[in-house]
Amino acid sequence: MKKNKQVIFTFRNDDVRKNLDESFIQLTNIFIDRNIPITHAVEPANVTPEVIEWLLDKKNKHPHLIEIIQHGYNHKLNYKTEIGGKIRKGEFGGSRDFNDQYSDIKKGMELMDSYFGNRWFKAFTFPYGARNKDAIKALDALNFKVVNGGISPKLVKQLFYIVGRLLNKEIFLDRKVSWNLKKINKTNVFQIDLAISIIKKYINEFEDCEMETLQDLKRETQQCLKLTNVGVLFHHRYHNSPEKIKLIEDYLDWLISIPNIKFCTQEEIFEKYNS
Ligand SMILES: [Zn+2]
Repeated sequence: MKKNKQVIFTFRNDDVRKNLDESFIQLTNIFIDRNIPITHAVEPANVTPEVIEWLLDKKNKHPHLIEIIQHGYNHKLNYKTEIGGKIRKGEFGGSRDFNDQYSDIKKGMELMDSYFGNRWFKAFTFPYGARNKDAIKALDALNFKVVNGGISPKLVKQLFYIVGRLLNKEIFLDRKVSWNLKKINKTNVFQIDLAISIIKKYINEFEDCEMETLQDLKRETQQCLKLTNVGVLFHHRYHNSPEKIKLIEDYLDWLISIPNIKFCTQEEIFEKYNS
């Protein structure tokens, strides 16, 4: 990392749904205790009143540390196909058209408004990361400010993104093009990308997965320090043991020790870089 180059870190926790899990409470508090913002991605059709109430209470107490955004509508798997050896699955994207996706995103957005009023930030993250051009158009038509995607720090990928953007592509050669810190392809939707996932391999949709080790996380993070912003993704439900909670604590404490890292919400990143 160049001397004095500031790197922004943002953390997103996905699949906020159902009941108030111990892991959800513990992880949120770990961030609050360290004065680091955490973004909770809420599934509008699946979240319960007790979670909404708890989140609003935390948000009122720590307005700058708790951020609430929308994660799909109901997180259902609407399609699953194999194309060229790759599994394609998602709630959105695939062959879903504009009207179909607009309707679901709008239903979710209206639920978010009814739960959180003006306490949520109009950012959207697609379940399974699946989206298509019409999905982005629907977000644009509904005046979403931000959408999340993924980015790799590898040089070859960075070059690929530049070419993809020059060609105004969101998907190029069957791969996603990063529009990180930019408005996507002639829309008003600003993209904020995530670069690191705490989960190495998902074993199932419940609580089984292979997590990165602290050592691997540190190594991956070092590679990302050349980026302007580094997004880190986790899912609270998989942190179902003291060791898996401690992994987050140790990782955050290590990040705090690195000079020139700044922790931000997505709204803060949007305000800083959107022009
Ligand atoms: Zn999800």
